[in-house]
Amino acid sequence: MRYLSEKAKKISPYTAGEQPKDKKYVKLNTNENPYPPSPKVRAAVEKFDPASLKLYPDPTAKALREAIGQAEGVPAENVFCGNGSDEILALCFPAFFDPDGDGAAFADITYSFYPVFCDFFGIPKRILPLDEDFTLDLEKLLALPAQGFVVANPNAPTGIGIPLGEVEGFVKKSGRLVILDEAYMPFFGESAVPLTKKYDNVLVVKTFSKGYSLAGIRCGYAIGDRSLIEGLERVRDCFNSYPVDSLCQAACAAAILDAEYYSRMNGLVIFEREQLRGALEKMGFFVLPSRSNFLFAKSNSLSGGKVYAGLKERGVLVRWFDKPKISDFVRITVGSAEENEKLLEALKDLLGR
Ligand code: PMP
Repeated sequence: MRYLSEKAKKISPYTAGEQPKDKKYVKLNTNENPYPPSPKVRAAVEKFDPASLKLYPDPTAKALREAIGQAEGVPAENVFCGNGSDEILALCFPAFFDPDGDGAAFADITYSFYPVFCDFFGIPKRILPLDEDFTLDLEKLLALPAQGFVVANPNAPTGIGIPLGEVEGFVKKSGRLVILDEAYMPFFGESAVPLTKKYDNVLVVKTFSKGYSLAGIRCGYAIGDRSLIEGLERVRDCFNSYPVDSLCQAACAAAILDAEYYSRMNGLVIFEREQLRGALEKMGFFVLPSRSNFLFAKSNSLSGGKVYAGLKERGVLVRWFDKPKISDFVRITVGSAEENEKLLEALKDLLGR
């Protein structure tokens, strides 16, 4: 610690889902997609010439932004690409919030990176407790004195989605910046991207990690009014001018143009989600209604910590947050039919049935 800055000593970093290597686990703890990326991604990677890696990538990721623009129905100049949506979310805080401003408002139970970013950049946090049923009351959020809002839709780790009509009402009334983290939108289908053409105060952040089965490649994008995209570009260029490497740009451009493949595969994830939800409920779990690729579930007999540890012992990884209000729950990523079956077998064994 001797050589660390005071800031580095004091921060509490975000903890990503574990990746233990002691044995082979059924990995249902980081919301990865159980299915492989599109065959068009394989073709793009095979076509890619490694000799081109001697050059820096296009810093503006123009070809990828054009592909994203085409798929999302927006001009490429309204698209920003980054090294995972985590990086884009990180850039949002210094780009849109002031340390001496009214702060960033978000829910108490949401993506746990938001408070880490606030603390790191010295931005005040305005935290709204979710209602009893884990829904977000947008009217209460609106009433907070904040410079802007960060809303994950669907939310994590609850999986609850907010319909587009309600999001639009919120954006319209707020008069302040609304950042929508749509990491799990491919499993819900109510994206606010169309709102970015009508309102200059909404920024939608998306990722290739979940809905495009590309968590290993690290790419995300944001869509919004040109002035917001410019803000992100300014801050990006204070850290790293080339966050998206050229192989990644080629792979992701191929992915986003294969809408037919992904709508089929994500449809399967949604089908498996509902199967798994029914099976968990039969086993006595209370399961929140999920519009994402994971389920947030509470056992009627064991604590969240016991479910997590018991499953890990049996070779299945799920995520447990040892935090007030949610420590009785575990978050279970929807896997393939076989993976979900293994989870259910492990649970039966754990619950002694
Ligand atoms: N937002 C939410 C709500 C998430 O759960 C995640 C994944 N941990 C991300 C953003 C970041 O995803 P990525 O950096 O892989 O794009």
